[in-house]
Amino acid sequence: MLPTSPGYDTARRIWNGAIDRHPACIARCMGVADVVAAVRFARERGLEIAVRGGGHNVAGTAVCDDGVVIDLSAMRTVLVDPLGRTALVQGGALWSDVDHETQAHALATTGGIVGHTGVAGLTLGGGIGFLMRKHGLAIDNMLAAEVVTADGSVVRASADEHPDLFWALRGGGGNFGVVTTFQFALHPVGPTVLAGPVFWAADDTADVLRFYRDFAAEVPDELGSVVRLGTVPPQAVISEDLHWRPAIAVICCYAGPVQDGERAVEALRRFGRPLADLIAPSPYVAFQSGMDNTVLHGWHYYWKATNLAGLSDDAIAVIADHAYAFNSPRSYAAMFHMGGAVARAPRDATAYAARDVAHNIVIDAVWLPDESGAHATTETAWARRFLKALEPHGAGGVYVNFLDADDDSGRVREAYGDRIYRRLAAVKATYDPDNVFHHNVNIQAG
Ligand SMILES: Cc1cc2nc3c(=O)[nH]c(=O)nc-3n(C[C@H](O)[C@H](O)[C@H](O)COP(=O)(O)OP(=O)(O)OC[C@H]3O[C@@H](n4cnc5c(N)ncnc54)[C@H](O)[C@@H]3O)c2cc1C
Repeated sequence: MLPTSPGYDTARRIWNGAIDRHPACIARCMGVADVVAAVRFARERGLEIAVRGGGHNVAGTAVCDDGVVIDLSAMRTVLVDPLGRTALVQGGALWSDVDHETQAHALATTGGIVGHTGVAGLTLGGGIGFLMRKHGLAIDNMLAAEVVTADGSVVRASADEHPDLFWALRGGGGNFGVVTTFQFALHPVGPTVLAGPVFWAADDTADVLRFYRDFAAEVPDELGSVVRLGTVPPQAVISEDLHWRPAIAVICCYAGPVQDGERAVEALRRFGRPLADLIAPSPYVAFQSGMDNTVLHGWHYYWKATNLAGLSDDAIAVIADHAYAFNSPRSYAAMFHMGGAVARAPRDATAYAARDVAHNIVIDAVWLPDESGAHATTETAWARRFLKALEPHGAGGVYVNFLDADDDSGRVREAYGDRIYRRLAAVKATYDPDNVFHHNVNIQAG
Protein backbone atom coordinates (compact mmCIF):
# COMPACT_ATOMS: atom_id res chain seq x y z
CA MET A 1 0.00 0.00 0.00
CA LEU A 2 1.45 3.37 -1.08
CA PRO A 3 0.55 6.92 0.00
CA THR A 4 -1.63 7.13 -3.10
CA SER A 5 -3.47 3.83 -2.41
CA PRO A 6 -7.10 3.92 -1.24
CA GLY A 7 -7.20 3.24 2.51
CA TYR A 8 -3.61 4.40 3.14
CA ASP A 9 -4.68 7.04 5.63
CA THR A 10 -6.63 4.50 7.67
CA ALA A 11 -3.88 1.87 7.43
CA ARG A 12 -1.15 4.20 8.75
CA ARG A 13 -3.19 5.03 11.86
CA ILE A 14 -2.52 3.14 15.06
CA TRP A 15 -4.28 2.99 18.40
CA ASN A 16 -2.61 6.16 19.77
CA GLY A 17 -4.21 8.97 17.75
CA ALA A 18 -1.36 11.32 18.73
CA ILE A 19 0.96 9.39 16.36
CA ASP A 20 0.71 10.77 12.82
CA ARG A 21 3.37 9.19 10.59
CA HIS A 22 3.57 8.67 6.84
CA PRO A 23 5.38 5.48 5.79
CA ALA A 24 6.59 5.13 2.19
CA CYS A 25 4.91 1.73 2.02
CA ILE A 26 2.66 -0.42 4.20
CA ALA A 27 3.19 -4.13 3.55
CA ARG A 28 -0.07 -5.81 4.56
CA CYS A 29 1.20 -9.33 5.02
CA MET A 30 -1.02 -12.39 4.70
CA GLY A 31 1.59 -14.95 5.77
CA VAL A 32 5.24 -15.78 6.37
CA ALA A 33 6.24 -15.46 2.70
CA ASP A 34 4.91 -11.89 2.59
CA VAL A 35 6.90 -11.00 5.73
CA VAL A 36 10.09 -12.44 4.19
CA ALA A 37 9.44 -10.46 0.99
CA ALA A 38 8.78 -7.26 2.95
CA VAL A 39 12.00 -7.57 4.99
CA ARG A 40 14.04 -8.20 1.82
CA PHE A 41 12.29 -5.40 -0.09
CA ALA A 42 13.06 -2.86 2.64
CA ARG A 43 16.66 -3.99 3.08
CA GLU A 44 17.47 -3.95 -0.62
CA ARG A 45 16.32 -0.33 -0.76
CA GLY A 46 17.87 0.73 2.54
CA LEU A 47 14.44 1.66 3.94
CA GLU A 48 13.67 1.79 7.64
CA ILE A 49 11.40 -1.00 8.96
CA ALA A 50 8.63 -0.74 11.55
CA VAL A 51 6.70 -3.85 12.62
CA ARG A 52 3.02 -3.63 13.49
CA GLY A 53 1.35 -6.33 15.61
CA GLY A 54 -1.72 -4.96 17.41
CA GLY A 55 -0.62 -1.33 16.89
CA HIS A 56 -1.07 -0.55 20.58
CA ASN A 57 2.38 0.67 21.51
CA VAL A 58 1.92 4.14 23.05
CA ALA A 59 5.26 5.37 21.68
CA GLY A 60 4.00 4.50 18.20
CA THR A 61 6.84 2.15 17.27
CA ALA A 62 4.48 0.21 14.96
CA VAL A 63 4.70 2.93 12.31
CA CYS A 64 7.58 4.99 10.90
CA ASP A 65 7.94 7.98 8.56
CA ASP A 66 9.20 7.23 5.03
CA GLY A 67 10.03 3.56 5.66
CA VAL A 68 8.23 0.22 5.33
CA VAL A 69 5.61 -0.85 7.87
CA ILE A 70 5.45 -4.63 8.06
CA ASP A 71 1.79 -4.80 9.01
CA LEU A 72 0.57 -8.11 10.45
CA SER A 73 -2.95 -6.94 11.23
CA ALA A 74 -4.46 -9.40 8.71
CA MET A 75 -2.64 -12.31 10.41
CA ARG A 76 -4.94 -12.96 13.39
CA THR A 77 -5.62 -16.69 13.22
CA VAL A 78 -5.68 -18.61 16.52
CA LEU A 79 -5.66 -22.43 16.39
CA VAL A 80 -6.29 -24.28 19.64
CA ASP A 81 -5.22 -27.84 20.41
CA PRO A 82 -7.59 -28.56 23.32
CA LEU A 83 -6.06 -31.95 24.18
CA GLY A 84 -2.48 -30.74 24.15
CA ARG A 85 -3.61 -27.46 25.78
CA THR A 86 -1.65 -25.29 23.39
CA ALA A 87 -2.52 -22.58 20.87
CA LEU A 88 -0.85 -21.37 17.70
CA VAL A 89 -1.35 -17.61 17.41
CA GLN A 90 -0.40 -15.48 14.41
CA GLY A 91 1.74 -12.38 14.94
CA GLY A 92 -1.02 -9.85 14.29
CA ALA A 93 -3.62 -11.33 16.64
CA LEU A 94 -5.21 -9.35 19.46
CA TRP A 95 -5.80 -10.71 22.96
CA SER A 96 -9.56 -10.71 22.28
CA ASP A 97 -8.88 -13.16 19.41
CA VAL A 98 -6.96 -15.47 21.74
CA ASP A 99 -9.53 -15.29 24.56
CA HIS A 100 -12.38 -15.90 22.08
CA GLU A 101 -10.86 -19.09 20.64
CA THR A 102 -9.31 -20.54 23.78
CA GLN A 103 -12.44 -19.98 25.87
CA ALA A 104 -14.41 -22.15 23.48
CA HIS A 105 -12.51 -24.94 25.30
CA ALA A 106 -12.55 -23.24 28.75
CA LEU A 107 -8.82 -22.63 28.37
CA ALA A 108 -6.77 -19.42 28.59
CA THR A 109 -3.27 -18.07 28.87
CA THR A 110 -1.95 -14.89 30.45
CA GLY A 111 -2.73 -11.88 28.25
CA GLY A 112 -3.27 -8.16 28.75
CA ILE A 113 -6.13 -6.44 30.54
CA VAL A 114 -7.50 -4.75 27.38
CA GLY A 115 -8.85 -6.99 24.59
CA HIS A 116 -7.71 -4.85 21.67
CA THR A 117 -4.02 -4.96 22.68
CA GLY A 118 -1.76 -6.96 20.35
CA VAL A 119 -0.43 -10.37 21.35
CA ALA A 120 2.98 -9.86 19.74
CA GLY A 121 4.23 -6.62 21.26
CA LEU A 122 2.76 -7.44 24.66
CA THR A 123 4.27 -10.93 24.76
CA LEU A 124 7.71 -10.00 23.47
CA GLY A 125 8.08 -7.43 26.28
CA GLY A 126 7.00 -9.93 28.98
CA GLY A 127 3.21 -9.82 29.17
CA ILE A 128 1.50 -9.00 32.46
CA GLY A 129 -2.18 -9.54 33.22
CA PHE A 130 -4.78 -10.94 35.58
CA LEU A 131 -3.67 -14.58 35.20
CA MET A 132 0.05 -14.02 35.73
CA ARG A 133 0.21 -14.74 39.45
CA LYS A 134 -1.28 -18.19 38.83
CA HIS A 135 0.10 -19.03 35.37
CA GLY A 136 3.14 -16.77 34.89
CA LEU A 137 3.81 -14.01 32.39
CA ALA A 138 2.81 -14.38 28.74
CA ILE A 139 6.45 -15.28 28.00
CA ASP A 140 6.41 -17.98 30.66
CA ASN A 141 3.68 -19.64 28.57
CA MET A 142 5.41 -19.12 25.23
CA LEU A 143 6.56 -22.52 23.99
CA ALA A 144 7.94 -21.57 20.59
CA ALA A 145 7.94 -18.88 17.93
CA GLU A 146 8.38 -18.79 14.18
CA VAL A 147 10.55 -15.79 13.35
CA VAL A 148 11.62 -13.99 10.17
CA THR A 149 15.09 -12.66 10.94
CA ALA A 150 16.90 -9.61 9.56
CA ASP A 151 18.38 -11.53 6.59
CA GLY A 152 14.94 -12.86 5.61
CA SER A 153 15.46 -16.39 6.99
CA VAL A 154 12.61 -18.21 8.70
CA VAL A 155 13.65 -19.89 11.95
CA ARG A 156 11.84 -21.62 14.78
CA ALA A 157 12.88 -20.66 18.29
CA SER A 158 12.11 -22.91 21.24
CA ALA A 159 13.92 -24.51 24.17
CA ASP A 160 15.64 -26.87 21.66
CA GLU A 161 15.93 -24.74 18.52
CA HIS A 162 17.88 -21.46 18.58
CA PRO A 163 17.66 -21.40 22.39
CA ASP A 164 19.57 -18.10 22.55
CA LEU A 165 16.96 -16.45 20.32
CA PHE A 166 14.17 -18.10 22.30
CA TRP A 167 15.59 -16.64 25.50
CA ALA A 168 15.91 -13.15 23.98
CA LEU A 169 12.42 -13.12 22.45
CA ARG A 170 10.97 -13.65 25.91
CA GLY A 171 11.37 -10.08 27.19
CA GLY A 172 13.68 -8.54 24.59
CA GLY A 173 10.88 -7.13 22.43
CA GLY A 174 10.88 -6.84 18.64
CA ASN A 175 14.67 -6.56 18.36
CA PHE A 176 15.42 -9.96 16.85
CA GLY A 177 12.99 -10.43 13.98
CA VAL A 178 9.32 -10.55 13.05
CA VAL A 179 7.37 -13.22 14.92
CA THR A 180 4.84 -14.69 12.52
CA THR A 181 3.46 -17.37 14.89
CA PHE A 182 3.60 -17.95 18.63
CA GLN A 183 2.86 -21.20 20.40
CA PHE A 184 1.43 -20.80 23.90
CA ALA A 185 0.62 -23.18 26.74
CA LEU A 186 -3.02 -22.98 27.87
CA HIS A 187 -4.64 -23.62 31.25
CA PRO A 188 -8.18 -24.40 32.40
CA VAL A 189 -9.84 -21.04 33.20
CA GLY A 190 -13.55 -20.27 33.38
CA PRO A 191 -15.56 -20.01 31.21
CA THR A 192 -17.17 -18.31 34.25
CA VAL A 193 -14.85 -16.50 36.64
CA LEU A 194 -15.47 -14.32 39.68
CA ALA A 195 -14.28 -10.94 38.49
CA GLY A 196 -14.91 -7.19 38.41
CA PRO A 197 -14.09 -3.92 40.20
CA VAL A 198 -14.91 -2.45 43.58
CA PHE A 199 -14.93 1.38 43.58
CA TRP A 200 -14.32 3.75 46.49
CA ALA A 201 -14.33 7.57 46.51
CA ALA A 202 -10.99 9.20 45.63
CA ASP A 203 -10.87 10.73 49.14
CA ASP A 204 -10.52 7.19 50.53
CA THR A 205 -7.48 6.39 48.37
CA ALA A 206 -4.84 6.33 51.11
CA ASP A 207 -7.00 4.11 53.36
CA VAL A 208 -7.88 1.76 50.51
CA LEU A 209 -4.23 1.44 49.43
CA ARG A 210 -3.04 0.73 52.98
CA PHE A 211 -5.67 -1.99 53.23
CA TYR A 212 -4.86 -3.28 49.73
CA ARG A 213 -1.11 -3.52 50.53
CA ASP A 214 -1.81 -6.02 53.30
CA PHE A 215 -4.65 -7.74 51.47
CA ALA A 216 -2.56 -8.29 48.31
CA ALA A 217 0.34 -9.68 50.32
CA GLU A 218 -1.89 -12.52 51.57
CA VAL A 219 -4.07 -13.41 48.58
CA PRO A 220 -3.75 -16.77 46.80
CA ASP A 221 -2.04 -16.84 43.39
CA GLU A 222 -5.43 -17.32 41.75
CA LEU A 223 -6.40 -13.74 42.59
CA GLY A 224 -5.05 -11.27 40.07
CA SER A 225 -5.73 -7.59 40.70
CA VAL A 226 -5.07 -4.17 39.24
CA VAL A 227 -5.71 -0.89 41.05
CA ARG A 228 -7.14 1.81 38.79
CA LEU A 229 -6.97 5.43 39.96
CA GLY A 230 -8.97 7.83 37.82
CA THR A 231 -12.64 8.58 37.27
CA VAL A 232 -15.50 6.09 37.20
CA PRO A 233 -15.96 5.18 33.52
CA PRO A 234 -19.40 6.01 32.08
CA GLN A 235 -20.40 2.40 31.51
CA ALA A 236 -23.96 1.13 31.39
CA VAL A 237 -23.34 -1.33 34.25
CA ILE A 238 -22.41 1.52 36.59
CA SER A 239 -24.98 3.82 38.15
CA GLU A 240 -25.10 7.09 36.15
CA ASP A 241 -24.65 9.34 39.19
CA LEU A 242 -21.15 7.86 39.65
CA HIS A 243 -19.98 8.46 36.06
CA TRP A 244 -16.76 10.54 35.83
CA ARG A 245 -16.48 10.80 39.63
CA PRO A 246 -12.83 10.52 40.81
CA ALA A 247 -12.45 7.09 42.37
CA ILE A 248 -10.07 4.28 43.16
CA ALA A 249 -11.01 0.82 41.93
CA VAL A 250 -9.52 -2.57 42.73
CA ILE A 251 -10.26 -4.78 39.74
CA CYS A 252 -10.07 -8.51 40.46
CA CYS A 253 -10.14 -11.76 38.55
CA TYR A 254 -10.09 -15.10 40.37
CA ALA A 255 -8.62 -17.86 38.19
CA GLY A 256 -10.26 -20.77 40.03
CA PRO A 257 -13.65 -21.95 41.29
CA VAL A 258 -16.10 -19.10 41.86
CA GLN A 259 -16.84 -20.18 45.48
CA ASP A 260 -13.12 -20.01 46.34
CA GLY A 261 -13.00 -16.61 44.70
CA GLU A 262 -15.86 -15.38 46.87
CA ARG A 263 -13.79 -16.20 49.96
CA ALA A 264 -10.65 -14.60 48.50
CA VAL A 265 -12.35 -11.22 47.83
CA GLU A 266 -14.60 -11.11 50.90
CA ALA A 267 -12.42 -8.77 52.96
CA LEU A 268 -11.88 -6.44 50.02
CA ARG A 269 -15.61 -6.05 49.40
CA ARG A 270 -16.24 -5.36 53.10
CA PHE A 271 -13.55 -2.69 53.38
CA GLY A 272 -14.71 0.88 54.04
CA ARG A 273 -17.69 2.26 52.15
CA PRO A 274 -17.50 1.20 48.51
CA LEU A 275 -19.30 3.38 45.96
CA ALA A 276 -20.01 0.28 43.88
CA ASP A 277 -19.15 -3.41 44.06
CA LEU A 278 -19.32 -5.01 40.62
CA ILE A 279 -17.49 -8.23 41.44
CA ALA A 280 -19.69 -11.04 40.13
CA PRO A 281 -19.46 -14.35 38.29
CA SER A 282 -19.01 -13.43 34.64
CA PRO A 283 -17.78 -14.99 31.42
CA TYR A 284 -13.98 -14.63 31.30
CA VAL A 285 -14.24 -13.30 27.73
CA ALA A 286 -16.65 -10.55 28.79
CA PHE A 287 -14.50 -9.56 31.75
CA GLN A 288 -11.36 -9.39 29.58
CA SER A 289 -13.03 -6.88 27.26
CA GLY A 290 -14.71 -4.90 30.07
CA MET A 291 -12.19 -2.06 29.93
CA ASP A 292 -11.92 -1.88 26.12
CA ASN A 293 -14.11 1.19 25.76
CA THR A 294 -12.22 3.17 28.44
CA VAL A 295 -9.18 3.41 26.10
CA LEU A 296 -10.55 3.81 22.60
CA HIS A 297 -8.61 3.86 19.33
CA GLY A 298 -7.80 7.35 18.09
CA TRP A 299 -7.72 9.13 21.45
CA HIS A 300 -4.41 10.73 22.35
CA TYR A 301 -2.13 8.97 24.83
CA TYR A 302 1.16 9.50 26.63
CA TRP A 303 2.45 7.55 29.60
CA LYS A 304 5.11 7.12 32.26
CA ALA A 305 5.78 4.09 34.41
CA THR A 306 7.93 2.62 37.14
CA ASN A 307 8.28 -0.52 39.20
CA LEU A 308 7.48 0.11 42.86
CA ALA A 309 9.60 -1.19 45.72
CA GLY A 310 6.44 -1.65 47.78
CA LEU A 311 3.52 0.35 49.06
CA SER A 312 5.09 2.18 51.98
CA ASP A 313 2.94 4.79 53.72
CA ASP A 314 5.06 7.46 52.00
CA ALA A 315 4.54 5.92 48.55
CA ILE A 316 0.81 5.73 49.24
CA ALA A 317 0.77 9.42 50.23
CA VAL A 318 2.44 10.31 46.91
CA ILE A 319 -0.05 8.24 44.94
CA ALA A 320 -3.04 9.75 46.76
CA ASP A 321 -1.65 13.28 46.22
CA HIS A 322 -0.96 12.94 42.48
CA ALA A 323 -3.34 10.33 41.10
CA TYR A 324 -6.29 12.69 40.56
CA ALA A 325 -4.36 15.86 39.68
CA PHE A 326 -5.16 15.42 35.98
CA ASN A 327 -7.37 17.75 33.93
CA SER A 328 -8.78 15.22 31.49
CA PRO A 329 -11.30 12.85 33.11
CA ARG A 330 -10.01 10.05 30.84
CA SER A 331 -6.51 10.07 32.38
CA TYR A 332 -5.78 7.41 34.97
CA ALA A 333 -3.06 5.33 36.60
CA ALA A 334 -3.06 1.53 36.77
CA MET A 335 -1.07 -0.48 39.30
CA PHE A 336 -0.52 -4.18 38.65
CA HIS A 337 -0.04 -6.63 41.53
CA MET A 338 2.92 -8.83 40.55
CA GLY A 339 4.37 -11.80 42.51
CA GLY A 340 3.09 -15.38 42.61
CA ALA A 341 4.23 -17.46 39.60
CA VAL A 342 6.00 -14.41 38.12
CA ALA A 343 8.32 -14.26 41.11
CA ARG A 344 8.89 -18.03 41.26
CA ALA A 345 10.14 -18.46 37.68
CA PRO A 346 13.90 -18.98 37.30
CA ARG A 347 15.71 -15.64 36.83
CA ASP A 348 17.89 -16.75 33.89
CA ALA A 349 15.19 -18.53 31.88
CA THR A 350 13.94 -15.38 30.12
CA ALA A 351 15.02 -11.79 29.45
CA TYR A 352 12.34 -10.34 31.79
CA ALA A 353 14.12 -8.41 34.52
CA ALA A 354 11.58 -7.44 37.14
CA ARG A 355 10.47 -10.70 38.74
CA ASP A 356 10.98 -9.47 42.30
CA VAL A 357 8.84 -6.38 41.98
CA ALA A 358 5.65 -6.29 44.06
CA HIS A 359 3.76 -3.61 42.12
CA ASN A 360 4.20 -1.88 38.80
CA ILE A 361 2.46 1.42 38.03
CA VAL A 362 1.70 3.09 34.70
CA ILE A 363 0.45 6.68 34.59
CA ASP A 364 -1.66 7.10 31.49
CA ALA A 365 -2.40 10.62 30.22
CA VAL A 366 -5.42 10.48 27.90
CA TRP A 367 -7.26 13.21 26.02
CA LEU A 368 -9.53 13.51 22.99
CA PRO A 369 -8.10 14.59 19.63
CA ASP A 370 -10.02 17.87 19.70
CA GLU A 371 -8.79 18.58 23.24
CA SER A 372 -5.14 18.68 22.17
CA GLY A 373 -4.87 22.40 22.79
CA ALA A 374 -6.39 22.17 26.25
CA HIS A 375 -4.95 18.92 27.54
CA ALA A 376 -1.82 17.80 25.67
CA THR A 377 0.46 19.93 27.83
CA THR A 378 -1.33 19.61 31.16
CA GLU A 379 -1.79 15.84 30.96
CA THR A 380 1.76 15.00 29.88
CA ALA A 381 3.08 17.34 32.60
CA TRP A 382 0.85 15.55 35.14
CA ALA A 383 2.26 12.15 34.17
CA ARG A 384 5.86 13.39 34.42
CA ARG A 385 5.23 15.12 37.78
CA PHE A 386 3.56 12.00 39.19
CA LEU A 387 6.50 9.80 38.07
CA LYS A 388 9.05 12.23 39.54
CA ALA A 389 7.25 12.17 42.88
CA LEU A 390 7.29 8.35 42.81
CA GLU A 391 11.00 8.11 42.01
CA PRO A 392 12.18 7.77 45.63
CA HIS A 393 9.75 4.83 45.97
CA GLY A 394 10.71 3.06 42.75
CA ALA A 395 12.23 -0.41 42.81
CA GLY A 396 14.61 0.56 40.01
CA GLY A 397 13.52 -0.40 36.57
CA VAL A 398 10.44 -0.10 34.46
CA TYR A 399 8.43 -2.53 32.35
CA VAL A 400 9.71 -2.15 28.74
CA ASN A 401 6.20 -2.22 27.31
CA PHE A 402 5.31 0.83 29.39
CA LEU A 403 8.13 3.03 28.01
CA ASP A 404 7.18 6.06 25.90
CA ALA A 405 8.96 7.89 23.07
CA ASP A 406 10.74 10.35 25.36
CA ASP A 407 12.18 7.59 27.57
CA ASP A 408 15.81 7.51 26.45
CA SER A 409 18.26 4.61 26.04
CA GLY A 410 19.22 5.04 29.71
CA ARG A 411 15.73 3.92 30.70
CA VAL A 412 15.99 0.92 28.37
CA ARG A 413 19.14 -0.16 30.21
CA GLU A 414 17.40 0.56 33.51
CA ALA A 415 14.51 -1.68 32.40
CA TYR A 416 16.77 -4.68 31.78
CA GLY A 417 19.64 -4.10 34.17
CA ASP A 418 23.25 -4.52 32.95
CA ARG A 419 23.44 -8.32 33.04
CA ILE A 420 20.35 -9.00 30.93
CA TYR A 421 21.08 -6.07 28.60
CA ARG A 422 24.59 -7.42 27.83
CA ARG A 423 23.18 -10.87 27.09
CA LEU A 424 20.48 -9.37 24.82
CA ALA A 425 23.16 -7.33 23.03
CA ALA A 426 25.08 -10.53 22.28
CA VAL A 427 21.99 -12.21 20.79
CA LYS A 428 21.28 -9.04 18.80
CA ALA A 429 24.82 -9.25 17.36
CA THR A 430 24.03 -12.78 16.12
CA TYR A 431 20.56 -12.24 14.64
CA ASP A 432 20.47 -8.53 13.73
CA PRO A 433 24.03 -7.11 13.73
CA ASP A 434 23.00 -4.17 11.48
CA ASN A 435 20.11 -3.19 13.76
CA VAL A 436 17.54 -3.56 11.00
CA PHE A 437 14.86 -3.86 13.70
CA HIS A 438 15.47 -0.63 15.59
CA HIS A 439 12.06 1.04 15.55
CA ASN A 440 11.34 -0.39 19.01
CA VAL A 441 12.69 -0.36 22.56
CA ASN A 442 16.11 -0.77 21.05
CA ILE A 443 18.92 -3.08 22.12
CA GLN A 444 22.27 -2.14 20.59
CA ALA A 445 24.35 -5.11 19.41
CA GLY A 446 27.39 -5.68 21.59
C1 LIG B 1 -4.61 0.25 26.69
C2 LIG B 1 -3.38 -0.58 26.89
C3 LIG B 1 -3.41 -1.61 27.79
C4 LIG B 1 -2.28 -2.38 27.99
N1 LIG B 1 -2.32 -3.39 28.90
C5 LIG B 1 -1.24 -4.17 29.06
C6 LIG B 1 -1.31 -5.28 29.92
O1 LIG B 1 -2.33 -5.58 30.53
N2 LIG B 1 -0.19 -6.04 30.04
C7 LIG B 1 0.96 -5.76 29.36
O2 LIG B 1 1.92 -6.51 29.51
N3 LIG B 1 1.05 -4.69 28.55
C8 LIG B 1 -0.02 -3.90 28.37
N4 LIG B 1 0.05 -2.84 27.53
C9 LIG B 1 1.33 -2.50 26.89
C10 LIG B 1 1.51 -3.34 25.65
O3 LIG B 1 2.17 -4.52 26.03
C11 LIG B 1 2.37 -2.60 24.61
O4 LIG B 1 1.71 -1.41 24.23
C12 LIG B 1 2.67 -3.46 23.40
O5 LIG B 1 3.65 -2.83 22.62
C13 LIG B 1 1.43 -3.72 22.56
O6 LIG B 1 1.69 -4.69 21.57
P1 LIG B 1 1.10 -4.51 20.10
O7 LIG B 1 1.46 -5.70 19.31
O8 LIG B 1 -0.33 -4.11 20.18
O9 LIG B 1 1.93 -3.24 19.67
P2 LIG B 1 2.53 -2.69 18.30
O10 LIG B 1 2.46 -1.20 18.45
O11 LIG B 1 1.94 -3.31 17.11
O12 LIG B 1 4.02 -3.17 18.40
C14 LIG B 1 4.91 -2.65 19.35
C15 LIG B 1 6.29 -3.17 19.04
O13 LIG B 1 6.32 -4.58 19.27
C16 LIG B 1 7.10 -5.20 18.26
N5 LIG B 1 6.24 -6.12 17.50
C17 LIG B 1 4.92 -6.06 17.29
N6 LIG B 1 4.51 -7.12 16.60
C18 LIG B 1 5.61 -7.86 16.37
C19 LIG B 1 5.84 -9.10 15.74
N7 LIG B 1 4.83 -9.81 15.20
N8 LIG B 1 7.10 -9.58 15.70
C20 LIG B 1 8.11 -8.88 16.23
N9 LIG B 1 7.95 -7.71 16.85
C21 LIG B 1 6.71 -7.22 16.93
C22 LIG B 1 7.67 -4.11 17.39
O14 LIG B 1 8.93 -3.74 17.88
C23 LIG B 1 6.69 -2.99 17.59
O15 LIG B 1 7.29 -1.73 17.42
C24 LIG B 1 -1.08 -2.09 27.29
C25 LIG B 1 -1.06 -1.05 26.36
C26 LIG B 1 -2.18 -0.29 26.18
C27 LIG B 1 -2.10 0.85 25.23
